[in-house]
Amino acid sequence: MKVLVTGGAGFIGSHLVDALLSAGHEVWVLDNLSTGAEANLTGAKASDQLHWHEGSTLDTELVRALMKEVEVVYHLAAAVGVKNIINNLVASIENNVRGTEVVLKQAAERKCRVLLTSTSEVYGRSTKRRPFAEDDDLRMGQTLKTRWSYACAKALDEYLGFAYWHERGLPVTVARLFNTVGERQTDAYGMVLPTFVRQALAGEPLTVYGNGQQSRTFCHVDDVVRALLGVMALEETVGQVYNIGSAKEITIEALADRVISQLDSSSQKLPVPYDQAYAVGFDDIARRVPDISKIKATLNWEPSIGLDDIIKRVAAQLAPSLQPQAV
Ligand code: UDP
Repeated sequence: MKVLVTGGAGFIGSHLVDALLSAGHEVWVLDNLSTGAEANLTGAKASDQLHWHEGSTLDTELVRALMKEVEVVYHLAAAVGVKNIINNLVASIENNVRGTEVVLKQAAERKCRVLLTSTSEVYGRSTKRRPFAEDDDLRMGQTLKTRWSYACAKALDEYLGFAYWHERGLPVTVARLFNTVGERQTDAYGMVLPTFVRQALAGEPLTVYGNGQQSRTFCHVDDVVRALLGVMALEETVGQVYNIGSAKEITIEALADRVISQLDSSSQKLPVPYDQAYAVGFDDIARRVPDISKIKATLNWEPSIGLDDIIKRVAAQLAPSLQPQAV
């Protein structure tokens, strides 16, 4: 098939591109390199089935031209990373809302099959004890707390995707990605796992924000890509939302301990108050765990790569860049 991946030079996008090429598809990539990197496509670029385009989803003419080439779109292009979002508020909202508007409109004109990637952020600041399920209500924080602009923008993307489905028959599936980790993820936008691994390898303190009792789950990008391809292979997933993530919960403090022990590091943990880590009044999410029973029932999908393995893989990739450079 002929497939467009927006955000295809990003961390998740580039792994998806590799998998699509391996499966024999012809792939067009659109990425503005804001958080992605061309180096992520080094392997993919060796294929004559890869068509690389540096540009933005805000460029309607470019998106229209690319959409003419393909039958399927995986829309991953988005501003990502809590630190990145709160440091670039206007651009993040504009990219996440308007970029998706452009992609959906052009996809609708061509009747392309669309995978819209969303985020577990849309569940917002819900304090409920159970894992988040797709049919839960979403609970955004107040508009003066900047982090919630990301959740709200992505929720609007979901509404728009389903509006196109209901009114114009555009076949859209929404994937809500929970914390995804693995090779090629940069720590430049604050993501906790690559940050802890880099700190542990360098013998630096691991910066645990708040009291470290907030919890997350971590899913390897290969498992996430397998889920994305799986939902797109099924007709019955059109007009549906799927949580994609690991269900194994861990506190951030325990994650720091795990990274230190797995990498046999001499590092210590360093508690950092939220006001120092982000900005005064920052609202963290205390607990974020997905209910993955829906995708399990649909695809028989569940993560296959455990946390210890993930830590070792991320470290193996980072370690060479931390070695002193020969002069
Ligand atoms: N975090 C941390 N130390 C860091 C970076 C992040 O303790 O150096 C915490 C952060 O406050 C949050 C969790 O780790 O509670 C996950 O953060 P990340 O930015 O990776 O993803 P989020 O789930 O917040 O989108």
